[in-house]
Amino acid sequence: MIFDHIDFDDHEHVAFASDPDSGLRCIIAVHSTTLGPSAGGTRFWSYADSASALTDALRLSRAMSLKNAMADIPHGGGKGVIMKPEGEFDREAIFAAYGRALNRVGGAYYTAEDVGVSPDDMRVIHRQTDYVAGLDEGAAASGDPSPVTADGVYRGLCVAIKRKLNKNDFSDLTVAVQGLGHVGYALCGHLHAAGAKLIVADIRDDVLQSAISDFDASVVPVEAIHAVDADVFAPCALGGAVNANTIGGIQVKIVGGAANNQLATPDMGQALHERGILYCPDYVLNGGGIINVAAELSGHYDPNWVDGKLNGLADTLAAVFEAAEADNVSPDVVAERMALARIAAKKLDMA
Ligand code: NAD
Repeated sequence: MIFDHIDFDDHEHVAFASDPDSGLRCIIAVHSTTLGPSAGGTRFWSYADSASALTDALRLSRAMSLKNAMADIPHGGGKGVIMKPEGEFDREAIFAAYGRALNRVGGAYYTAEDVGVSPDDMRVIHRQTDYVAGLDEGAAASGDPSPVTADGVYRGLCVAIKRKLNKNDFSDLTVAVQGLGHVGYALCGHLHAAGAKLIVADIRDDVLQSAISDFDASVVPVEAIHAVDADVFAPCALGGAVNANTIGGIQVKIVGGAANNQLATPDMGQALHERGILYCPDYVLNGGGIINVAAELSGHYDPNWVDGKLNGLADTLAAVFEAAEADNVSPDVVAERMALARIAAKKLDMA
């Protein structure tokens, strides 16, 4: 029963949609619309079963509420997950059916790209519905949010190295990047330009070869990246990079990357804190993409507004670090407290 699910957090609306003709099976989870219509990406992924997809939808949509609150945008939290069918399938038919499913949610949720989804998929969705952003054509189109996410992660890491290592740039620093996808690769570009030495891991050989030639990166196996000798560990693949098995091996002073849900369990934040490792709460650090989406959803894409919001996000991260140090707790505890307070204040305003 969904109401007894461990990750159910009084989500306002959870929709299950299927379309046997295309093979679509998806879950659209709206966690909160207090700050505005919910917004968050859609994930297209091979889930082992529907229970795993539901867990992802519930957890990721709640994280979007926190992320959007910290990014200071007029949107609540929501997320879509599409279960990638096994074997052959018609991708366009699936995303078209998904667009029709979004219409049935009626504007409580706006989607954009997440893992496994591209601007091409958004274009297909857009033929069915207006509840979509991350488009690459149209008056306010903002395209793939990944480069802006990477920009935000980079600005946040600059705040973190100043706070933890008293460094103003990356010239003497080594960063271990896990996952060289849309965000991870762009983040490597920023870090390389800023003088960082890069150690990278991915399951794809093509991106590793590119990172060697573009960034002079060193490559390690995926199971070793969390434990390399570096200053910063940047998880940019899937969630759960910091877990009971990896935490003992983490040697860096700072953990911060683009991946959502980096802490496999909430106690991992405190465990990092106790080991003197500064954790950059993922949903604060990676809010750049949703800021870009919000710019598009406003109907008028303004790059200056996006730039200002990215600077605001970096200031918010600095405030989180400050309060965490004052209270001697992990930054993720403070970030959640701040985000929930912002949502509660809006609720009070509306009452
Ligand atoms: P992506 O699919 O483009 O990249 C993920 C990369 O991780 C791929 O290159 C993949 O091969 C690699 N990978 C998969 N398993 C791995 C493993 N075990 N070890 C090392 N590498 C592995 O996704 P993305 O858009 O770059 O997003 C990366 C993360 O950032 C995701 O967790 C996503 O939810 C989060 N995020 C993305 C955005 C965005 O704007 N794209 C915004 C916020 C958060």
